[in-house]
Amino acid sequence: MSHRCPSCQRVLYNRRLKACGFCGAPIPEELRFTPEEVASLDRQMAEVERQGRQRGKAAAKEAEGARRRDAGDCGISLTGFMS
Ligand SMILES: [Zn+2]
Repeated sequence: MSHRCPSCQRVLYNRRLKACGFCGAPIPEELRFTPEEVASLDRQMAEVERQGRQRGKAAAKEAEGARRRDAGDCGISLTGFMS
């Protein structure tokens, strides 16, 4: 089901807007998201963004741990070589 502007008949790509993005005609309330829907969408967006940041942090931590392990291995083998 696609919502179309009653004035220019174009598909409403952003139903948060109060007016058509193409012709500027006011969008009837029944074609727009309700404030509750907008709030729920905002929460979903915030959650996706938060999860994305956490994934990025975890990946960075993992890379850091790998670097430390490499350095440790190198130190141990070097000590064995020296003695
Ligand atoms: Zn329009």
